[in-house]
Amino acid sequence: MHDVVVVGAGPCGTAAARACAEQGLSTLCIEEHGTIGHPVQCAGLLSTAAFQVCRVSRRVILATMKGAIVYDSAGIPLTIDAGEPKAHVVDRGMLDREMADAAARAGVEFLLKTAVCGLSGDAVLTRGASGRKEIPFRLLVAADGVRSPIARMRGFPRPRMVLAALQAEVPFQGDQDMVGIFPDASPDFFGWVIPAGKERARVGLAGCSDVKERFDRFLGEHGGSCLDLVSGAIPMGPAERTYGHRTLLVGDAAGLVKPTSGGGIYTGVRSALHAAAVVAECCEQGSFRDRDLAAYERRWKEDFGRELEIGWHLLRIRQQMTTEEMDAVLAALRDPEITEIIVRQGDMDRPAALARRLVSNPRVIRAAGILVRSGIRTILK
Ligand SMILES: Cc1cc2nc3c(=O)[nH]c(=O)nc-3n(C[C@H](O)[C@H](O)[C@H](O)COP(=O)(O)OP(=O)(O)OC[C@H]3O[C@@H](n4cnc5c(N)ncnc54)[C@H](O)[C@@H]3O)c2cc1C
Repeated sequence: MHDVVVVGAGPCGTAAARACAEQGLSTLCIEEHGTIGHPVQCAGLLSTAAFQVCRVSRRVILATMKGAIVYDSAGIPLTIDAGEPKAHVVDRGMLDREMADAAARAGVEFLLKTAVCGLSGDAVLTRGASGRKEIPFRLLVAADGVRSPIARMRGFPRPRMVLAALQAEVPFQGDQDMVGIFPDASPDFFGWVIPAGKERARVGLAGCSDVKERFDRFLGEHGGSCLDLVSGAIPMGPAERTYGHRTLLVGDAAGLVKPTSGGGIYTGVRSALHAAAVVAECCEQGSFRDRDLAAYERRWKEDFGRELEIGWHLLRIRQQMTTEEMDAVLAALRDPEITEIIVRQGDMDRPAALARRLVSNPRVIRAAGILVRSGIRTILK
């Protein structure tokens, strides 16, 4: 019997599996696709901290970003330029494969082209390249993405909201080291233009409704000739419960994505490391009760739970804002003193501290008034 079975070989699955194997546990990682890292459903923008937590080589980096330009509905820019590397744009397929390779070297056994299609007590039922199997485990880590079949089979509550996303890779001549953000492209979230090296960029948006129509219009405004098309879903708002019945949910399966950016790799991989630590402790003690597993949820919440909660409220407020209100907020933030605060204190993985700092700044009072009004609409809705 394996100590731990990890379902899903995305970054969170392989990070959890690697950390388990490094602690001496016998670890099996099951992936339904025959090739790890394919298909890609990601823009590949990782903060420098997110890049580090993945423990991959710099070969996966396609471009390095030093800031962002946020455009209002009239195209007026708000430039946040840190003047130093803040994020990397990666080849996401290569990142997944390097993470899986490191896990295999640490001793993880992989079972590819095999889907988990059921659970029978403390065993997963699989079908795929090697036929049907029943594989017992001491603990199960569900790293099976936003749709998480395991979470459904176990009856776990699901993330609060799921956004649909579309993205195209296009030829691009603009700033090669600044991310473009376009709130007006999608009133439920935002649109993005992320340079990906070699004069190409990833142009995409996410939202709750009219996503295809909005995406077609946005893509048309950015050249239109698509060289690679990606579609996917992004969970928002963590699931109410992320452990139980010998199972831990990590990454997208648990809804551990930053609601302010849609980035899930930093929080997801960190959740995977917390999960692996708890799995190792449980295996060591030979105790797998829910109260033992609860340590996992406590730890990810201590680490970044408050960030996700504040991010969730900011997203709900953003979704209530009109175009005029968003433009007014951006106009208020265009003040050089405020941009300087954003440059100095902005952290794309932990934006709550900056949000707190900004709303207590007198120069942002006008924008804060708009946020409060939109917040009240959110509460009344
Ligand atoms: C368009 C788009 C752009 C994004 N851009 C960014 C970005 O720039 N930066 C960022 O940080 N995040 C981004 N994200 C989010 C990021 O892609 C996810 O948060 C991240 O992939 C989550 O990793 P994961 O390992 O939890 O899940 P996944 O990467 O989804 O991996 C889950 C794996 O489980 C496998 N699986 C599913 N079911 C089964 C089963 N029954 N049996 C076996 N295997 C199974 C799947 O095949 C898959 O390989 C983006 C998402 C989208 C959709």
